[in-house]
Amino acid sequence: METTKPVSASSSNYIKTIMAEDLKAGRVKEIVTRFPPEPNGYLHIGHAKSICLNFELADEFGGRTHLRFDDTNPLKEDTEYVESIKEDVKWLGFDWEKLFFASDFFEEMYNRAVLLIRKGKAYVCDLTAEQIRETRGTLTEPGKESPYRNRSVEENLDLFERMRKGEFQNGEKVLRAKIDMASPNINMRDPVLYRISHAHHHNTGDKWCIYPMYDYAHPLEDAIEGVTHSICTMEFADHRPLYDWVVRECEMECVPQQYEFGRLNLTNTVMSKRKLKQLVDEKLVDGWDDPRMPTISGLRRKGYTPEAIRELCREVGVVKTNNSVVDDKLLEHFIREDLKLKAPRTMAVLQPLKVVITNYPEGQVEMLDAEINPENEAMGTRQIPFSREIYIERDDFMEEPPKGYHRLFPGNEVRLKHAYFIKCEEVIKDADGNVVELRCTYDPETKSGSGFTGRKVKGTIHWVEATSAKPAEFRLYEPLILDDNMEESESFLDKVNPNSLEILHGYVEDNMKNAKPYDKFQMFRHGYFNVDPKHTTTDKLVFNRIVSLKSSFQVK
Ligand code: ATP
Ligand code: MG
Repeated sequence: METTKPVSASSSNYIKTIMAEDLKAGRVKEIVTRFPPEPNGYLHIGHAKSICLNFELADEFGGRTHLRFDDTNPLKEDTEYVESIKEDVKWLGFDWEKLFFASDFFEEMYNRAVLLIRKGKAYVCDLTAEQIRETRGTLTEPGKESPYRNRSVEENLDLFERMRKGEFQNGEKVLRAKIDMASPNINMRDPVLYRISHAHHHNTGDKWCIYPMYDYAHPLEDAIEGVTHSICTMEFADHRPLYDWVVRECEMECVPQQYEFGRLNLTNTVMSKRKLKQLVDEKLVDGWDDPRMPTISGLRRKGYTPEAIRELCREVGVVKTNNSVVDDKLLEHFIREDLKLKAPRTMAVLQPLKVVITNYPEGQVEMLDAEINPENEAMGTRQIPFSREIYIERDDFMEEPPKGYHRLFPGNEVRLKHAYFIKCEEVIKDADGNVVELRCTYDPETKSGSGFTGRKVKGTIHWVEATSAKPAEFRLYEPLILDDNMEESESFLDKVNPNSLEILHGYVEDNMKNAKPYDKFQMFRHGYFNVDPKHTTTDKLVFNRIVSLKSSFQVK
């Protein structure tokens, strides 16, 4: 599947144009939008796009945005999700003007349904869910009218009230709109408005046993709140006539308009909450905030910043196509851009190999100067200890190097970043023949910054001083899912990458000892890392790699 080419961040979009026209023509006094998540899971980066769009559009016109929990399905919803959603929206940098629960409007929705019955626009139907599906017809054939369609208003009022009182079992009856079973739009063929569900609701408890369907509840919620522009994803485009029908027939004072935009999909990523929940429930990940998850909380824990996520959402813009898939590398591009000037540089050895510098005085420790961020001098300098014993990266040494290998091998000289040239003199092995230590010599003339020009070396490697180094755990991630266009395919568990997490144990510089959860660093040659908030303890720092340093991805 081809990935979409991002449009420019500043580009206008069709919803913005409509809003400007509506204000100019006096159709609305102010712009009111809402972000309406169902609290049945954690928010993901697709939701971030909807959040940015709603809040930023309203903001641009000096309007307001509500956070509304669309909690009309008691079986799947939970207060844990409510809390996480609030936290994520705030973390992304947005603040809602008002907070609503759709369930707070149940009484009003019920009253409007009674109005529909009185007007002969709704009826209680005894068909089963399966019978309703079977009589709905197809794209080419009209549906069949229900035998209960012509019940009298009195009978409907009585039955609907008894539905509310709990006199019927789940599935025994529904309330349906009376529209047109021959409509070319299947959504208009007497859609179900209310179903019976004897379930405990996270907000209303056991007060209700009938619950409104999304297509009935959503337009009413918008209208009750005074939303002017109701922005949703493309799959609801066909539901728009029903949306308008509900607002009109329920005689709502405020008449919101629905507008659609394309969902955000990323390569190598599953996005639907249902699939993400499955990964959590089947313990394929370490919870909703596992750094491999595309959830806001997972991205936060991995080390993403709100700025990077917002930039991605701006860059992809508002496209009116349904199946656009954005390259996940684009997200990586924006976090590199954001951290480039912010993150302090440091050295870390992920797979340590001990090096003893035999001609360096025993017991001596010298402090070397290094920039905190060479791309941002204002961040100042730091001091790094250097002594006779250091760790280097295991794969920066090869006993029998291939041609073109410029790092350490017997007899070869390399530069230690910020320090001296060292030369490998001797290789120490254990009984099994594994390399366990290198003996090197250093040249005091070659100190970094001394202006030494005597000779050149081809390789520069990183290191940490052994006696002061802090042990650390490094978690390196690969995509959780290996597929370019996940949302299209239903089965995805077979696409889960078995090698999505690699855990290494090594060392970081002594000056990292005060690092706190969510502190971010650029580790020389390894990439950007975030201090993990869940696994880091006072004794052990745990780092999540956010992203490696290089990418071939070109944005413009
Ligand atoms: P999912 O299928 O992942 O469960 P949903 O649409 O059911 O998503 P809701 O909680 O109902 O999730 O969504 C809240 C808002 O976020 C809706 O307006 C929805 O259109 C929007 N949204 C959800 N997924 C995406 C996405 N991938 N891209 C853009 N907007 C999205
Ligand atoms: Mg949903």
